[in-house]
Amino acid sequence: MKKSYKRLAALMMAAALAGSMTACQSQPAETSAPETTTVAETTTAAETEAEAAGAYTPGTYSATVTGMKEMTVTVTFDADAITAIELDHEETPGIGEPVCQSMPDQIIELQGLGLDAVAGATLTSTAILDGVADCVEQAGGDVAALKAVKPEVVAAEDEELTADVVVIGAGGAGMAAAVTASQEGKSVIVIEKTGNMGGNTALAGGALNAVDDGSETALARNDSVDFHYEQTFNGGDKQGDPELVRILVENAWDGVEWLKDLGMEFQPGVFTVTGGMYERAHKPVEPEGSGFFKTYQAYMDSHDGITMKYNTKADSFIVEDGVVVGVECTGQTGNKVTVKANNGVVLATGGFGQNVEMREKYNAETKLWPTLDETIPSTNTPAITGDGILMAEAIGADLIQMGNIQMLPLGDPKTGSLSGNIEHAVESRIFVNKEGNRFVNEGGRRDEMTLGLFDQTDTTMYIIMDSDTYPTGDEVNNFNEKMSDLVAAGRAYKADTLEELAEQINVPAENLVKAVEEYNRHCLGGDLEGQEDEFGRVLFTDTDKVNNGINNPPYYAGERVPTVHHTMGGVKINKNTEVLDKDGNPIPGLFAAGEVTGGIHGSNRLGGNALTDTVVFGRIAGKSASAYMR
Ligand code: ADP
Repeated sequence: MKKSYKRLAALMMAAALAGSMTACQSQPAETSAPETTTVAETTTAAETEAEAAGAYTPGTYSATVTGMKEMTVTVTFDADAITAIELDHEETPGIGEPVCQSMPDQIIELQGLGLDAVAGATLTSTAILDGVADCVEQAGGDVAALKAVKPEVVAAEDEELTADVVVIGAGGAGMAAAVTASQEGKSVIVIEKTGNMGGNTALAGGALNAVDDGSETALARNDSVDFHYEQTFNGGDKQGDPELVRILVENAWDGVEWLKDLGMEFQPGVFTVTGGMYERAHKPVEPEGSGFFKTYQAYMDSHDGITMKYNTKADSFIVEDGVVVGVECTGQTGNKVTVKANNGVVLATGGFGQNVEMREKYNAETKLWPTLDETIPSTNTPAITGDGILMAEAIGADLIQMGNIQMLPLGDPKTGSLSGNIEHAVESRIFVNKEGNRFVNEGGRRDEMTLGLFDQTDTTMYIIMDSDTYPTGDEVNNFNEKMSDLVAAGRAYKADTLEELAEQINVPAENLVKAVEEYNRHCLGGDLEGQEDEFGRVLFTDTDKVNNGINNPPYYAGERVPTVHHTMGGVKINKNTEVLDKDGNPIPGLFAAGEVTGGIHGSNRLGGNALTDTVVFGRIAGKSASAYMR
């Protein structure tokens, strides 16, 4: 069941990021528009059109539409107006969820459907508008006329702002930098092109690799910072800068402690995330990446000095005498926003997973993937288009390893998102192809798994697991979706026997049964002396023995396809996160952290290392930019 709470007018990001799934029950009285919305003031002409369009058969109507996930839109009409809109949804906290809060009010205030999709939350916005349009049609209203009713956009004035530190991008790395700079006593402006914090970080499954060297947890698993280093460096084919990899792994645990000090909570224990290669991922208590932003928001609520400039897109750097002193931006209404820094500027705009042109250009250099054209989906938010990389390139920054683009074999068949992914820990599942056969080491590298998937029929696979992770079936996956809801929506499959499961997903039952039996033999030990898994898999059971083979019915399956996930190339930085030019010299005043940077993860990023990267290098960038004086 989707959660459904009563909507309060104009809830702000803080509440959105509290992770509460919010259904929106909007009433006409609640007309105050949240800070993040486009200006919604109807013109006289629009009012007239709305009146003409508003002729309904009074009543309440519902429609089911798909945003990031399925949502139900329920609209109440009287004879001449939309009087209430309720959304029953599970849109992403910090990204789609704030739109679910603001858009129903805007539609009611406007009495029209001519609103623009919210940048960064296009799927959610479009789904809401489509759902309301469907209800309008059911109520006998004129959808086309309502779509013509648009809000009047009042152009904002050009403005010029100054802070000590300017951060571009309010994802994980940018917010870690912003909070750190604030802790250093600096005033900070964060420029964010969408209407909210989060970026790709908010969409992540939440796994953060960090080893507390010498602790009981690490010792019990034979893990260490050195082993984390080795796996990260080797897992990227030794292409990562050893110095930066060292910094990543050695500061990871300190990053966790810093987050905890800020109030962030983590679940006990560690797990192996897909492509993480080992049990060292910490999982926040809050779903997906929302815990990070809830924490950063809480810091901002209790400390002055960080100004968020949402719906503001950074376009170019302001360079004076070779020093980056600020950034030119475009505001929401096309107005010019000039932001200057007394100290440094931190670039944290993320990668380019949603920029098909850049994907194709750089994939052509390495040919890692058969294609990365528009037919290949991405897990990324639509805002992740490489802007910062292009801005830095324009002022002479060195770009490094741009062809190292990571794909995951875990995309939703319709959207490419990670939503609907049923797996929790590597040890609990196998992958089978449409023939019901395993085809790859499911505990291995992300690139090898995805390349393996490209060779399978229809580039499609099924994740197969049992009830160890879902004892009642009502537990949630890593994306806060209840397994029972996924099954009810036809996004996952459930059966009492493997044979029935095979029938549901249309694979040969004998092959599926054989694949599971072989996997179980390895999980349960048995007579396996000298027998290696045919695909080289070594991760079969976890240390805590939660997962012990696929033998506990009911069984589950989930369909998955390849999807672009992370771009490991980007601007070259040094250990202080200074951005380097093509001669290896720092570009004064400019620092960078997170996915916008290149050369840390090499050819293949370990699962669970991206969130670590945002925290470790975000903090360094915040500190370096604070210390920078020109
Ligand atoms: P990271 O993991 O490196 O922090 P994220 O994807 O989490 O990266 O966050 C990057 C953020 O940068 C996103 O919120 C995105 O909307 C924002 N962003 C991208 N391009 C721009 C731009 N040109 N101006 C301002 N913000 C941007």
